[in-house]
Amino acid sequence: MSQTHHTDIAIIGSGPAGLTAALYAARAQQRVLVFEGNQPGGQLTITTEVENYPGFEKGILGPELMDIMRKQAQRFGAESIYEHVIDVQLDRRPFELLTDRERRYTADALIIATGASAKMLGVPGEADYMGYGVSACATCDGFFFRNQRVAVIGGGDTAMEEALYLTRFASEVTIIHRRDEFRASKIMLTRAQQNEKIRWITPAVVEEFLGETLPTGVKRLTALRLRNVQSGNVWEEPFDGAFVAIGHQPNTEIFRGKLAMDDAGYLVTECKSTRTSVEGVFACGDVQDHVYRQAVTAAGSGCMAALDATRWLESVRHRAEVAA
Ligand code: NDP
Repeated sequence: MSQTHHTDIAIIGSGPAGLTAALYAARAQQRVLVFEGNQPGGQLTITTEVENYPGFEKGILGPELMDIMRKQAQRFGAESIYEHVIDVQLDRRPFELLTDRERRYTADALIIATGASAKMLGVPGEADYMGYGVSACATCDGFFFRNQRVAVIGGGDTAMEEALYLTRFASEVTIIHRRDEFRASKIMLTRAQQNEKIRWITPAVVEEFLGETLPTGVKRLTALRLRNVQSGNVWEEPFDGAFVAIGHQPNTEIFRGKLAMDDAGYLVTECKSTRTSVEGVFACGDVQDHVYRQAVTAAGSGCMAALDATRWLESVRHRAEVAA
């Protein structure tokens, strides 16, 4: 175990929430370490065009936006640590963080911006064919399905966006959704409905991901076993690829039992504040927001977390000076 590094504010997560918090905290003259985690830049690094981030009239690529945010925070002294935090100690201050490199860090205040990750269906075959036809990211893997038949599972905006993106490559895109109504916004649903390459199977669920092992030993997805939830009819539908787009779950595993969470695992923050159930620990972005989940709202709450953390640190230091 190497030497422990200390900082004023540690930020776990490097999406729009984490990097905006870093920008504000660094500009407030705090020493800031940003733990970039397993996906530096967060979910926007696996999207293409971002059209709804204010300030970019013609849109901007997700990875490019995150690069800019990181550089902007670094300009004011925020430091990126390319490690993944695997454990935290929140019982006493300074807080302690342990990373996958077996390095230990301490921090006077902590901002959690670990975001959320794609949910999976958890049915047979899904895990077996992950990376061999099954994916949760069209922008990462869509290119591999040129002129092939792919399925997108889900009925929200993510499913519509993934399906529309996949029409650039695939010969046909089938949206499979468990209901006849869609949770997706009207604009996204209409765009998908108007696209001739997209067909629909509803109300249906995937019972199994089916595939084969080639003579070379490589596995590949070949079909989905589907069940119509109204008629009960079960059948196999051939596909070369299947994209699971059924929402997200917050990345809060390491905080279980340490911070208050709701039933879905999202961190609970105080009304009009980013304070969590532990004094000195703040949360921002998708890890505490299952309602808005936008880059701009994540960035906004990152700003709030930095203001809350710096004000709290100043009051703690002031009290310590008065007591001394
Ligand atoms: P949502 O929670 O909105 O939708 C999830 C979809 O997956 C629902 O249709 C749900 O079905 C279905 N689903 C969930 N679990 C299962 C399961 N076990 N089996 C089968 N189907 C399942 O998540 P999204 O990721 O689509 O969107 C999240 C948020 O992000 C939304 O607020 C959305 O507007 C936003 N967003 C905006 C975009 C944009 O504006 N460009 C792009 C992407 C997301 P059911 O409806 O029956 O519950």
